[in-house]
Amino acid sequence: MADRDGVIWYDGKMVPWRDATTHVLTHTLHYGMGVFEGVRAYKTDKGTAIFRLQEHTDRLFRSAHILGMKMPFDKQTIAEAQKAAVRENKLESGYLRPMAFYGAEAMGISAKTLSTHVIVAAWAWGAYLGKEALENGIRVKTSSFARHHVNITMCKAKANGNYMNSILAHQEAAQDGYDEALLLDVDGFVAEGSGENVFIVRKGKLFTPDLTSALEGITRDTIVQLATEMGLEVVEKRITRDEVYSADEAFFTGTAAEVTPIRELDNRPIGAGKRGPITEKLQTKFFDVVMGRSPEHMGWLTLVDQ
Ligand code: PMP
Repeated sequence: MADRDGVIWYDGKMVPWRDATTHVLTHTLHYGMGVFEGVRAYKTDKGTAIFRLQEHTDRLFRSAHILGMKMPFDKQTIAEAQKAAVRENKLESGYLRPMAFYGAEAMGISAKTLSTHVIVAAWAWGAYLGKEALENGIRVKTSSFARHHVNITMCKAKANGNYMNSILAHQEAAQDGYDEALLLDVDGFVAEGSGENVFIVRKGKLFTPDLTSALEGITRDTIVQLATEMGLEVVEKRITRDEVYSADEAFFTGTAAEVTPIRELDNRPIGAGKRGPITEKLQTKFFDVVMGRSPEHMGWLTLVDQ
């Protein structure tokens, strides 16, 4: 990732990709106290557009607030930086990674004297779990790692350190031959994937776990809104793993994963063991929306050239 052409927005300036480095004593590298976002830009008829830029920028600042991290730039600057990162890397579509992290002024737990730095990188990135996964669905395993307890780390913050838990879960699932992990909360109820929220469909209704120990996903919110507009009922509730086993359909949502059908959990086929009809309908609508083919949802798109 580091050795490539392009530019990265770094503390207010565009710097060559290869020069966007930091010191090995960077505090966040040692302790994981940082916040980030994952954002996507899509090619539309009107030009390249960032999907729900405002909501992603708001969540970045909310994450920083939760961690008590002072942001050295305002939201407008970070939003403009994201547009510029896509534009100046000449991307038609891609993934964006804004991140705020502490500097290398001091070691030790206290972050009091540290500066905060912000970067925005953007690069071309296709389907996160593979193009095939979007059509055929993925095989998922319930993780032996529980999702964070709400009072151990802050699940509403998209914080760097939280992803150690995600990586442990994903690594275990992948080593066992699965595509992704499903994490349960500390009480044993379904929380989310390593980088995705989860939905199940039963008798035409959508169910998704409440947000107690899951990230407030922007794709999740998009799907809830689109499903409601399509006349589907969406229920937020505690979900057990056997409710997933016996669901008619299940899918993950996330900026990277988009809308990915789950065809199997713990070796049990879900429904027909392939992408279900409601999942397909929502997925189609989702791609229409992000690619600017849904006139009533253009408000969610920000053209990078404007
Ligand atoms: N949960 C976790 C743990 C994630 O990392 C992500 C990806 N940001 C999501 C859910 C989905 O969030 P979003 O739809 O906003 O990308």
